[in-house]
Amino acid sequence: MDNTEVIYEGKAKKIYPSTKPAFWIQEFKDDATAFNGKKKGQISNKGEINNKISSRLFQYLDSHQVPTHFVKRTAPNAMEIKKLQMFKLEVIVRNIAAGSYLKRENVEEGTVLNPPILEYCLKDDDLGDPFISETEIFDQELATDDQLDKIRRNTLKVNVLLKDFFSRRNLKLVDFKLEWGLDAKKDVVLGDEISPDTCRFWDATTNEKLDKDRFRQNMGGVENAYEEVLKRVF
Ligand code: UDP
Repeated sequence: MDNTEVIYEGKAKKIYPSTKPAFWIQEFKDDATAFNGKKKGQISNKGEINNKISSRLFQYLDSHQVPTHFVKRTAPNAMEIKKLQMFKLEVIVRNIAAGSYLKRENVEEGTVLNPPILEYCLKDDDLGDPFISETEIFDQELATDDQLDKIRRNTLKVNVLLKDFFSRRNLKLVDFKLEWGLDAKKDVVLGDEISPDTCRFWDATTNEKLDKDRFRQNMGGVENAYEEVLKRVF
């Protein structure tokens, strides 16, 4: 697509206008970053793979009454989405201890966290996406009580649905990040993406890592891992 039209460019995606005023086009890039943008690289075919995986998962969630911004896939690496006004929040769910959780809690990687842990981070690259409490979210007027209640309940519903979806595909959903926004009617709607960039997936039999940790930790086999998740999702 023509770059001059870009409305917003993030680390992994670009947003373009759509021909219809209520929608945008979300294009997925092959660029990969980690550690708040300090590690940069490319994962070949990632844009197309993440678009396909996200499209499939958004359709699955929509069919289970979780509202998402997904409209339709418009290109191998792009989807049409509903315009949303995003909350400045990243919502993280942890079913199994991994990643940054291991640095602040004295638990071994792989420890099951039951009930799952829900965390909020302020979406702010300059501050390094720090933790934010519910009271701070209200103080800073990032969401109302009612909106945060919907975000919390819908996020836990997404967790139940996705854990089941992936366990049927012999994958453990270790942890993941969601981003929510408000549509034109001010309803809370799921935006962004759901992919191996934003979730940790382990093979349920071998615990093999099939997500961006392979890129973060220079483990090799990154493209194959993303392809494997795509294959199992469909
Ligand atoms: N995550 C993400 N974007 C972020 C931070 C985290 O998609 O900016 C995802 C990450 O892929 C993992 C989960 O959220 O599935 C928990 O990440 P964690 O806090 O362990 O941080 P990380 O180890 O990724 O720095």
